[in-house]
Amino acid sequence: MKNIHIHINNHIEVSPLPSMLAYADGMYGDYGGAYIPPVLAEPLEKLAASFDTLVRTDAFQQEFVHYLKTYVGRPSPLYKAVRLSRHIGSTVYLKREDLNHTGAHKINNTIGQILLAKHMGAKEIIAETGAGQHGVATATAAALMGIPCKVFMGAADVKRQALNVRRMELLGAQVLTTERGTKTLKDAVDAALEYYVAHPDSYYLLGSQVGPHPYPRMVGYFQSVIGQEAKAQILQAEGRLPDSVFACVGGGSNAIGLFSGFLDDAKVRIYGAEGGGKAIAGQTAATLSQGKPAVFQGTYSYCLVDEEGNPVESQSIAAGLDYPGISPQHAYLKDTKRATYFPVTDHQAIEGYKLISHLEGIIPAIESSHAVALADKLLKDKGELAVINLSGRGDKDVERELD
Ligand SMILES: *Cc1c(COP(=O)(O)O)cnc(C)c1O
Repeated sequence: MKNIHIHINNHIEVSPLPSMLAYADGMYGDYGGAYIPPVLAEPLEKLAASFDTLVRTDAFQQEFVHYLKTYVGRPSPLYKAVRLSRHIGSTVYLKREDLNHTGAHKINNTIGQILLAKHMGAKEIIAETGAGQHGVATATAAALMGIPCKVFMGAADVKRQALNVRRMELLGAQVLTTERGTKTLKDAVDAALEYYVAHPDSYYLLGSQVGPHPYPRMVGYFQSVIGQEAKAQILQAEGRLPDSVFACVGGGSNAIGLFSGFLDDAKVRIYGAEGGGKAIAGQTAATLSQGKPAVFQGTYSYCLVDEEGNPVESQSIAAGLDYPGISPQHAYLKDTKRATYFPVTDHQAIEGYKLISHLEGIIPAIESSHAVALADKLLKDKGELAVINLSGRGDKDVERELD
């Protein structure tokens, strides 16, 4: 395929990575696939085919890059964090996804998918949200394209996340509250899936690298712009590749975005920081670190399960990392040992959150703070060169008592 390269200050490019269009069958080793009710087979096959055709056209590439540049604000800077580097004893660069429009990496994916939805003639966008971050990013993209949008959300989350509910409504989305189960994210997913089954011609806009094929592939591709930029930027700044890269892992989309730029560079070590929760008696609750392979919400990957193999609730302080499933591509990267994943406890993440706020004047999302905490631990006085993905900004976390 032809890739549109828009050259901005010294050859930093904003397009996604063509190599991420491998995995055409949605399989990452044994992981991935599509475990779905039969009624969704046809719409998902149509989605996979439309994606494959459209992203290879110059028109789509041009349109996507146009919005990334002029609406999202890409490329995001790669910032050398001098005081943080001194503190850690290694040279650390931060990939500033927190500076994107809406304050996180999620917008890269929602813009890509909304353009796909538009080209497919979708009359309605549906999405689910937990803390409201993906709901806001989806409502934003839907407003941009003028397509009606319904966001499913658990009643408990609607109450806890009143500000994001108001944002979504201001953006013209309809927020549909579900009263079932624990009234949180998992129940919102179930409600959205039920609606999708009843309305298979709506466009289901998924927010992370999870769910059935083709979502992990599409989301990975749209987010790979992060890694493509970061690689060009670090080569420009330091004249060499980093020794290691770090990202937090919830469903896995910001992490695969950064990692994809370095997967083929065997010397670059790749680290994912999972939400480890409170770590009661030293026991954390992190999907790749403690989970087992299982089918969960449409895909075969690692999952946090109980003794009978049923999915259990995760329990991270970070809403964005609080999901019992994970991307099948990360499951594959873990098993093949190309990437290594560590649980980071709530306490460690809060330390990371304060550290970079004090040292750099950047208040990171509590999710991203997990990656900062892991880098602080693994790079201590090593004199290495590293890139940490700052997946989002922390304004949303400031009113919480993170002590
Ligand atoms: C949603 C979110 C995450 C977790 O999602 P991934 O798909 O794992 O990237 C991480 N950081 C921020 C700021 C988020 O909003």
